Amino acid sequence: MADDDTNPTRPGASPQNAHASEAEARDVAEQARETEWTHPSFVRELFLGRFRAELIHPHPLEDPAEAERAKPFLDQLNAFLDTYDADETDRTGNIKESDVQTLREMGAMGIKIPKEYGGLGLSQMTYVKAMELITSKCGSLVALLSASQSIGVPQPLKLFGTEEQKKKYFPRIAKGAITAFALTEVNAGSDPANMTTSAVLSEDGKHWIINGEKLWCTNGTRAELFVVMARTPDKIVNGKPRKQITAFIVDRSAPGFDVKMRCHFMGLKAIENGWLSFKNVKVPVEDMLWGEGKGLKLALVTLNTGRLTIPASVTGGAKALLKAIRAWAMERVQWGQPIGKHEAVAQKIARMASSTFAMESIALLSAALYERGGYDIRLEAAIAKLWNTEAAWKGVDDAMQIRGGRGYETADSLRARGEKAIPVERMMRDSRINLIFEGSSEIMRLFIAREAVDAHFSIAFPIVAPESSFSTRINAAVKAAPFYLTWYPARWIPSFKSYADFGKLAGHMRFADRTTRRLGRSLFHAMVRFGPKLERKQMVLFRAVDIGAELFAMAAACSRAVMLASKLNQPGAIQLADAFCVEARGRIEALFSSLYGPHDEQLYKLAMSVLKGEHAWLEQGIAWEEYYEESASGVKVLESLNTQSAVESSQLQTAG
Ligand SMILES: Cc1cc2nc3c(=O)[nH]c(=O)nc-3n(C[C@H](O)[C@H](O)[C@H](O)COP(=O)(O)OP(=O)(O)OC[C@H]3O[C@@H](n4cnc5c(N)ncnc54)[C@H](O)[C@@H]3O)c2cc1C
Repeated sequence: MADDDTNPTRPGASPQNAHASEAEARDVAEQARETEWTHPSFVRELFLGRFRAELIHPHPLEDPAEAERAKPFLDQLNAFLDTYDADETDRTGNIKESDVQTLREMGAMGIKIPKEYGGLGLSQMTYVKAMELITSKCGSLVALLSASQSIGVPQPLKLFGTEEQKKKYFPRIAKGAITAFALTEVNAGSDPANMTTSAVLSEDGKHWIINGEKLWCTNGTRAELFVVMARTPDKIVNGKPRKQITAFIVDRSAPGFDVKMRCHFMGLKAIENGWLSFKNVKVPVEDMLWGEGKGLKLALVTLNTGRLTIPASVTGGAKALLKAIRAWAMERVQWGQPIGKHEAVAQKIARMASSTFAMESIALLSAALYERGGYDIRLEAAIAKLWNTEAAWKGVDDAMQIRGGRGYETADSLRARGEKAIPVERMMRDSRINLIFEGSSEIMRLFIAREAVDAHFSIAFPIVAPESSFSTRINAAVKAAPFYLTWYPARWIPSFKSYADFGKLAGHMRFADRTTRRLGRSLFHAMVRFGPKLERKQMVLFRAVDIGAELFAMAAACSRAVMLASKLNQPGAIQLADAFCVEARGRIEALFSSLYGPHDEQLYKLAMSVLKGEHAWLEQGIAWEEYYEESASGVKVLESLNTQSAVESSQLQTAG
């Protein structure tokens, strides 16, 4: 079945001019970058080759006053989860209204909403712990609560709302109004510059009138209130039109709002996710959030904090799996031994435990850094989202393997056979989306890479840019000299810090310190080697990002282990952190040895010839062939690849 590209409302359709150019996409993203921060970020420093352990160490201890305030709520939540049937939710694809009502009554819809507005007034740390707890039981339930509070109306309202807006909406949400965040559209997924939903001011200037559609809006079929991002009229900046994206609070009761359909997925069977339509929806001007043209920045800033939830939440899933697998690996005997004693299984168990420890360390550290305030959390949150979701996915895969056939069997089927209904199958289905939504792994790597090279690009870019004239280069070199004359040699001088307070883990901290210098040097060398093309060398940059992520994970794990051992009588944490670091060091060395990807160019070339259809012969002999036919937009891409000149394609190859 060939795609019908004439219907612009159908998913996958390509309305004319719907696609922003790469430059536009970048321009929109650039405008939305946050730049105002008072405290440096540990991770940002790390990419500059500076291992500033003091920014994250000692690992923050739980605030006892907050723990006391949070206890009644967390106890109630725990008691509720004891009775809540996650398999029923998965089976029926529905979270019962009575369960939602119970959650409303305990204040679970307004965990972070200040008390003065009727919320529980609890901290970000308590909030992520609550999400961790819920995920250990049910992915669909956490999707409802988290979409409502991590990215839905209360978060941007707290950050950017006026006092009037807060007074109007916080009490309603605190009482239980479910909310949602509507950014994605059919043609605007990772790239919001493609957004076509529009908002124009009414003639009397009292309303914004929204037209368009939003796809995959979590809670879309159930929410009362939405944050909707829409394009408002372009502004002329330096004589050129500049796209404006603006955020609005939209009430579901507004005439013209409609849910076109509820979307269904591989996992999160009870997620109330909708394809929404807005036809002349009138939004009072007072319900615009923050300001005209500030909507994308609002969305990205919201996501920066929102991203702290998923790392904690996937940790909850990983802990539940670890507990289940530990019991199973001891009781299941095959080949004369509990399977946990077979080396291949034992290794998986060790990795599950050590990476769960690292995941929790990253999640708690990132949330604590956010709580300190004024701290540039973007990179930590992005790494936490990227690293934890990928580690969680590996963990659930290992759990499935260790459970064998029972891992693949549904909980209901296991129960019907009289066995323990461990829901590894459901958890695997629920887990996969975490690598895609709220910023896919690739987009997280791109974002981190952009920030990682930002300092070099802003200082040294004109020196290495081929289009720079001789005089521009000289001027830029003069400006850059004071920084590089001290920075670069310092990246070679070994650190004399002993990290003695880390005890058995000191060696790992010394490794992280010297490797951070190496990472800083390597990024600089990459910039000198590739110049402006570095921006397009995704694989080189992504490997550097992964090295940075591993270093952050090591530092977080070591710091937390020391705190747990010394302050909370948990000496076993050292063993977990040690094993984690040994493995992380191996991964880091492997990444360095392939940093410049000797096969990147070859693989890129192959991908281009695959896209051109040169290996279509390989796809013969399959059923349902017409299902996979190229769509009209795909054919356009194909044509553009085919018509590329030899010069262009050789450029592409070096860019890849
Ligand atoms: C269950 C579910 C719930 C969701 N909830 C919400 C919600 O509540 N609100 C909302 O607004 N959205 C929501 N989304 C949308 C989600 O955020 C998007 O799916 C996500 O942003 C990715 O967009 P996309 O699917 O269009 O992928 P695309 O942007 O089409 O990307 C496809 C692939 O290409 C990769 N890619 C794209 N650009 C680049 C690049 N420059 N370099 C390298 N790789 C690239 C991506 O990483 C991905 O692997 C939800 C989606 C799902 C499935």
